[in-house]
Amino acid sequence: MALDYEFGEQGDQLRAVLRELIAERIPRGYLGAFSNDPEDLAIAQRFCKELAAKGLLTLSWPKEFGGQAGTLWDQTVVREEMWAHHEPRGAQYMGLNWVGPAIMEFGTAAQKAAHLPPIAAGERIWCQGFSEPDAGSDLFALSTRALPEGDGWRISGQKIWTSYAEMAEYCFLAAKVPGNHKSAHGGITIFLLPMDREGIEVRPIASMLGPHHLNECFFDSVWASADELLGAPGQGSAIIRRTLSYERVGIARYARCDRLLSLAARALEGEWDTLPAALRARWNRALIKVRTARLLAYRCVAAQARGERASQTMASVARVAVTQCDQEVAETLLQVLGHRGLEAPGPNAPFFGAMEDHWRYAQASTVAAGAIEIQRETVARAVLGRVDGPRPS
Ligand SMILES: Cc1cc2nc3c(=O)[nH]c(=O)nc-3n(C[C@H](O)[C@H](O)[C@H](O)COP(=O)(O)OP(=O)(O)OC[C@H]3O[C@@H](n4cnc5c(N)ncnc54)[C@H](O)[C@@H]3O)c2cc1C
Repeated sequence: MALDYEFGEQGDQLRAVLRELIAERIPRGYLGAFSNDPEDLAIAQRFCKELAAKGLLTLSWPKEFGGQAGTLWDQTVVREEMWAHHEPRGAQYMGLNWVGPAIMEFGTAAQKAAHLPPIAAGERIWCQGFSEPDAGSDLFALSTRALPEGDGWRISGQKIWTSYAEMAEYCFLAAKVPGNHKSAHGGITIFLLPMDREGIEVRPIASMLGPHHLNECFFDSVWASADELLGAPGQGSAIIRRTLSYERVGIARYARCDRLLSLAARALEGEWDTLPAALRARWNRALIKVRTARLLAYRCVAAQARGERASQTMASVARVAVTQCDQEVAETLLQVLGHRGLEAPGPNAPFFGAMEDHWRYAQASTVAAGAIEIQRETVARAVLGRVDGPRPS
């Protein structure tokens, strides 16, 4: 029985429009917005505005918030085409995938009016201020504090691994507020904070991922007004859980893996038949894993489209599969292409260096947005129930 990945005529048309636009606007060899060349970021910013003008940026958002009321499947096509082509939206994918939806769900009318139009217009970059030096997997151990002062708050603390913080205009920041909060996650609160506010300092972290990916952010008695708080004080853990489940299916990593595997096969041309059989078998196994991960992502999208609670568990299942694909494809391609696969980005490298770029990024993909071990634990708890609970007699 053949597997059918088709999205129907509407999906095909959307895919064709996106591919044509990417071919016209994004230079060959583009490896994303995060390089030392400011033109790469400029390309992403221009591209977002053009997508917005054509109604393609926030396609699946409701019309009242600047979207086209498209389906989650339309949005899936957009995610796939963007990630397969090195995310020409740059950091703005976060605004569309989860910052905007979180503000739609938990924001006041004034917050919606202030934040959603610039995201829908492709004009605003956000960053996510969750992780801290002593709070990553256990996010609820965070120690950044927001203390009430007058009609607002004073925020102090440190965040780490904050992607895109140098270029972001706003931070979706998690801090704890004092008070008698009942739950173990008590007091976590989300603030929508402009990054140019006095007292915020961003320090880049050098890493194998390249520039602009990772930063430390220091908050030294930073003022936040009451209307910069999202939801209610202490509602942050619920908001974070919700936003993380959007984020986990938000990046169609399998789409880039699929494209790189097919580019490699094409690049080898006549050499393919001379590869050891074991290597060709590994390439095939990698492709099967990629297609399986894609199906798991689709199961999650289908559950989300039906509004099912189980979609959060499915998001974790899909993420475990998809991030492992990133690493499996990186290793397989390295073996298949040999030393050529490690050539730094440039016109002479295989696919302009996309292979080397993918290998470096793949190393982090099982950690970013929640480590894979934690995803497995989430799935185990959902499927098996609490492991430390009473045993059935
Ligand atoms: C590329 C990249 C981009 C990122 N961008 C952002 C960002 O923009 N904003 C942001 O806030 N954060 C960001 N992060 C941080 C990321 O969310 C955290 O790194 C991640 O949640 C893990 O936290 P940690 O690094 O503190 O590791 P830890 O929580 O210290 O975990 C270390 C290891 O121990 C394991 N472990 C921990 N607890 C358990 C447990 N209970 N059971 C089993 N194993 C466990 C983990 O799985 C992991 O392998 C980014 C990370 C990366 C790599």
